[in-house]
Amino acid sequence: MSISRKLLPAAGLLLTSCTAAFQPGGGGDPISAADLQRRLYAFAADSMMGRLFGDEGDLKGTQYIANQLASMGVLPGGENGTYFQAVPAFRVTAGSGTQAFLDGAPLAYRTDYITSIPASGRALPLGDLEVIYGGDLSDSAALVPPEQTAGKAVLFTIDGPFRGNPNRFISRYTQAAAVITKTNPAAMRTFLVTTVTDTTAARVNVFVSPTVAERLFETPSTTLRPGTAGRRLRFASMTFQRQPAAARNVVGIIRGSDPAVNGQYIAIGAHPDHVGIRAGGPLDHDSLRAFNTIAQRIVEARTREMTGSPGAGLTAAERASIRVNVDSLRRIRPARRDSVFNGADDDGSGSMGVLEIAESFARGRTKPRRSLLFVWHTGEEGGLRGSRHFADNPTVPRDSIVAQLNMDMIGRGGAGDILGGGPDYLQLVGSRRLSKELGDLVESVNAGSTRPLRFDYSIDANGHPERIYCRSDHWHYARYGIPIVFFTTGLHMDYHQLTDEPQYIDYEHLRRVVQLVHDVASRVANLDHRVIVDKPKPDPTAACVQ
Ligand SMILES: [Zn+2]
Repeated sequence: MSISRKLLPAAGLLLTSCTAAFQPGGGGDPISAADLQRRLYAFAADSMMGRLFGDEGDLKGTQYIANQLASMGVLPGGENGTYFQAVPAFRVTAGSGTQAFLDGAPLAYRTDYITSIPASGRALPLGDLEVIYGGDLSDSAALVPPEQTAGKAVLFTIDGPFRGNPNRFISRYTQAAAVITKTNPAAMRTFLVTTVTDTTAARVNVFVSPTVAERLFETPSTTLRPGTAGRRLRFASMTFQRQPAAARNVVGIIRGSDPAVNGQYIAIGAHPDHVGIRAGGPLDHDSLRAFNTIAQRIVEARTREMTGSPGAGLTAAERASIRVNVDSLRRIRPARRDSVFNGADDDGSGSMGVLEIAESFARGRTKPRRSLLFVWHTGEEGGLRGSRHFADNPTVPRDSIVAQLNMDMIGRGGAGDILGGGPDYLQLVGSRRLSKELGDLVESVNAGSTRPLRFDYSIDANGHPERIYCRSDHWHYARYGIPIVFFTTGLHMDYHQLTDEPQYIDYEHLRRVVQLVHDVASRVANLDHRVIVDKPKPDPTAACVQ
């Protein structure tokens, strides 16, 4: 269900494209809030099916972008004269022979447990494992020491308030034979079909139902101490079937005007993919948003920070108290059921921002001296797949890429979205990590605008637990020593929710962020020298350090 189409039935008619009459210095179509809005309503529509990597919606979304580039006269920069670069993708499903046994009794795949699917698609005979309790991830100080889990299966729970990515704790347990996480059954269903690239999984991840978690220890997990030994779990004949799937990056080029430097590129990027359709079925839009609005207030009051998906940060008692309020809401208004993750902010906002920048330069009478490379990286969600593939196999010489400007979630950032937010709010990440000059240049371009944005560098701090520097597409450029800037208005309560829809975007805020990225690209492209890399180039095969 799309609330968006009901609210704005004639969006495409009301909001017309900008005229060519406006000619700011050097010419060009101005960055327009109306253009951004018109395109975002199309790109984040339910018909795009949530744009899941390797799925039909991903192909539709990338086709939309390619069609727009063609209409603007932007040159194809992909493979074989097209706008596309194929990205390897496979659909892997568990084979029917997969079996697990708890003390000899068989468990039911899909209801009792599921396993993460090894990308290789190979069978994983795990044999007979002792299970020990690792602790609750909300109390990370009390987790079992990793060396105690060697060769065993370790069970983690998330019963207390927890925000962020559990992997930041789980990834320390490299010696464990398997990591088991207690998971609610609805979340388990979302893991059933996974599209992955061909990387090898280091260790098996298993997700079990609350019932199985209790059976593993014959006692409720809330009464367990980390390190407690439980019963034995045996995995037999785990098999997987792997079929190729189609996925692609979109690449466009605007040739620079100066033959001396137009073999160099300023790369501008975003990710067109999102997380698809809710496997657990539809939810009522209004109840979900009401729940998350209250949850956000509770979590912010407690932690003084906001990192997205506020419902995950609640205690069971808080959850129940909100549910009472939401239930009373339902009596006022019939349910509006929705199952499509529209991804308007994540990352429809950045994807349409790149298009708007391309249009502005394409319509300009004078092109910048250096060339512009527009890349929409698919498969960002869950693995940065398209950006890794592009950085490893660039369609222009890698050393010709002078800098990369990445946008992900740039349409929110208001006072109600994030603590410290407001109409001028923008987070910057990585802007001085390879080139002090690039970071300074973003500051000076912003300071020179009529109404500067207010930069928040807090999530760029070394060692920041959210590891944002390592978690979006720019990282794959940075690991090859290409200086980057990551622009985002930050996480909010609709992040990865069914409610990340176009009617909640602040289009004037979005326009100003896109204008800044446009102006930074223009400045870097017109510099009399290549932007200076003054930090050591990283080893491209080394792990990312925030
Ligand atoms: Zn994103």
